[in-house]
This record gives sequence, structure tokens and C-alpha cells, in this order.
Amino acid sequence: MPAIFIGLGSNLDNPVAQLQQALEALRAHPHIELKQVSAFYQSLPMGPADQADYINAVAELESTLEPRALLAALHAIEHAQGRVRKQRWGARTLDLDILLYGRQVINEPDLIVPHCGIAERNFVLYPLQELVDADFNIPTHGQLRELLAVCSADGIRQLQDKETSG
Ligand code: ADP
Ligand code: MG
Repeated sequence: MPAIFIGLGSNLDNPVAQLQQALEALRAHPHIELKQVSAFYQSLPMGPADQADYINAVAELESTLEPRALLAALHAIEHAQGRVRKQRWGARTLDLDILLYGRQVINEPDLIVPHCGIAERNFVLYPLQELVDADFNIPTHGQLRELLAVCSADGIRQLQDKETSG
């Protein structure tokens, strides 16, 4: 089964708890198997700067759901946690993105895989690195190692366990 990687992000209403609740929802989903989860990272907001820091993580899944059905399942989890779509890149209680779906390349108006920001976003590349082999290759973007070599970790900080428990 293809390895699927998703990005999780939140900057509202106790972001750590939002991510933990989303992970529980993924574990509970009948057609999704949660394989592994990175550490949580605190990161500076992208876009509008007048918003709180984000908490981000990357998770690996397996699923019998095709990409579009998986996206719908992720949107359902976002909605269950109170996400209202407003400003692009604006504050949100939960953002779940499909980063990679095996080696599939999808270019449709509402679904782009690999995710459009994957190659430059430090809050994606650093947690992803925790979950994959050193020679991991991202379709259409190349070696993760090479992307990381030119991607500064400025603005992100890995949370310690004590900050994510409780
Ligand atoms: P963003 O994640 O860019 O901050 P949203 O979560 O509001 O913004 O997503 C906007 C749209 O991006 C979604 O409605 C979805 O159709 C589209 N989209 C395109 N590719 C993907 C992907 N790989 N994962 C998740 N959403 C995607
Ligand atoms: Mg999104």
C-alpha cells in the first residue's frame, strides 16, 4: 500500500490539543491506519503575521481511500474540530493537507500532490525527515536531503514531550 504523508497544523484554541484530537480521529477512522507521527513543532505564521504561532506535525498513514476521498475525510475532521474557512493562510483551528500519496502526481484545481509547499516549508521538511529513510525522494522535487540542505530551520522549534502531554 502506498505510504501517505499528511501535514497537520493549528494556531487556535489550544493547538497542541487540536493536533492530538485530529490524530485520535485518524486512528478511529475505519479506512485509515495511522503508522507514525513526527514530533510537534512550533512555527511562525506564514502570510498574515498578526496571528499566533502554529503547531505543526507530519504523520504517515495507510489508507484504502483514493486521494480525493482521503481529502474529503481530512476536511470532515477539520470541520468536526470547528474549522471555518476564511482568509487564505489565516488563523485556523486545524489544517490537514495531503503532502504525499505514494509516488502519485496529481494536478487538479482542488488537489495538488505532492502538496504545493512541500519543497520549501521548513515545518513540513523537518518533521517529514523524522519519518523516512535518508535517501527519501519526493516526486517532482527530488531528494529530501537536498531540499533540507537549502531550507533553514529558522522560526521552527521542536516541542519537548512535556509540552505536548497533558
Ligand atoms: P491551506 O492549506 O493552503 O492553508 P486550505 O486548507 O483552506 O488552505 O485549503 C484550500 C484548498 O486547497 C482546499 O479546499 C483543497 O481543495 C486544496 N488543496 C489542493 N491540494 C491539496 C492537498 N494536497 N491537500 C489539501 N488540500 C489541498
Ligand atoms: Mg489545507
